Amino acid sequence: MLAEFTSPFDATAVRLLREAGADIIGKANCDEFGMGSLNKHSHHGPTINPFRPSSGQIEKRYPGGSSGGSAAAVAAGMCQVAIGTDTGGSVRLPASYCGISGLKPSYGLISRWGVVSYADSLDCVGVLAKEISDIRVTFGVLSTYDNRDPTSASPDMRSQSAEAIKSLLSKLEGNKDTKRPLDSLRIGVPQEFFPSELSPTIINPIRSVIRSLRAQGATIVPVSLPSTSYALSSYYVLASAEASSNLARYDGLHVRPPPGSDITKTSRNYALSRTKGFGPEVKRRILLGTYALTADAFDNYFLQAQRVRQLIRNDFNRIFSLPNFYFTDPSTITVSQEQEKSREDQIDVLIHPSAIRTAPRIDDTADKNDGDESDLDSYVQDVLTVPASLAGIPALSVPVPERYLDPKGDGWPIGVSVVGQWGSDELVMRVGEAIE
Ligand code: GLN
Repeated sequence: MLAEFTSPFDATAVRLLREAGADIIGKANCDEFGMGSLNKHSHHGPTINPFRPSSGQIEKRYPGGSSGGSAAAVAAGMCQVAIGTDTGGSVRLPASYCGISGLKPSYGLISRWGVVSYADSLDCVGVLAKEISDIRVTFGVLSTYDNRDPTSASPDMRSQSAEAIKSLLSKLEGNKDTKRPLDSLRIGVPQEFFPSELSPTIINPIRSVIRSLRAQGATIVPVSLPSTSYALSSYYVLASAEASSNLARYDGLHVRPPPGSDITKTSRNYALSRTKGFGPEVKRRILLGTYALTADAFDNYFLQAQRVRQLIRNDFNRIFSLPNFYFTDPSTITVSQEQEKSREDQIDVLIHPSAIRTAPRIDDTADKNDGDESDLDSYVQDVLTVPASLAGIPALSVPVPERYLDPKGDGWPIGVSVVGQWGSDELVMRVGEAIE
């Protein structure tokens, strides 16, 4: 639909980067409208993952999606930093598959103005880089209130959450013992994030990461987020429903019809836009989402998915030591409520694998199997990334250091995710640096 489209203006994120002196070197490949987990559903064909395992074996693998072009550009050394969008994992999954770091910030911290909408209640602009210090600088430039994005976190919300996290950050800074820089940090390991689909060669490297965090002074706490198993279904219903509504504007009138059409023929252009303007995956999402919003299905699908989303948020709010200043009206958070939670049951960040496997191979049948089971397989790739998206909380995927990789594994990168309460982006990056 947008193959020949050049935006007449810069998104807020791009403007802020330019103003801060960044050179924008190009646009990266991604799955059409951000819909995909591999980079397989791109109009331009898949990006190839540039990672080369130490065995030297050359294999074509996907970089992950949807922001796979951004991750590949960073991994290949074409740029120091790339931005992408993360609606359900599209920055974290490619980061994990390509062996770099990727931050999905807290929802509402980076303006979405000028970003093509997929599912507004989930969409976040994210940052990818090899070094977390580069992510920090870029995030610092981008995280600012923008009155052109109605979901942008207000200056009040920003300062309240910064105030709430201040004491923990300064405790960490004040740790005198250089061998135990994480003293007084509590890290949760959620049992539900180790599902049966998880490849066994991922578990041991994650265990080694957890052990090293403990050795650095962190307290490791097993936690439970019981609604996690419903997250994937809830996500696909909600994301598709919002997408079906957002993509209604591509009708040949509001947005110009696909290349080659005669703009004077309105109704023909409408039909052309809807039939020829989208690839098969986008059409599938539009149909799925439109169905979920019909009178017959609304209650059982859309509303049910909204209820599940609330359960997932409640799960996170129950275990985090900090309150959520974005999704809860801060005036309703009373001190006594917060004190009720004893520090012993509370954690500051969570840690879990970013993906259930390493990057999948690009096989020769990749273009022919649209619509079969392999597509459902790619939905499953998102099982570990969508809970943080539904809750709107920050999540950073960091590569597991090579020394921890399982010798029985395939030698391709594995990502580990650090997840925090809304507004804990800096904390999440600090813990990520302890893994690097
Ligand atoms: N793979 C998920 C989807 O297709 C997430 C994509 C994204 O975060 N943009 O919806």
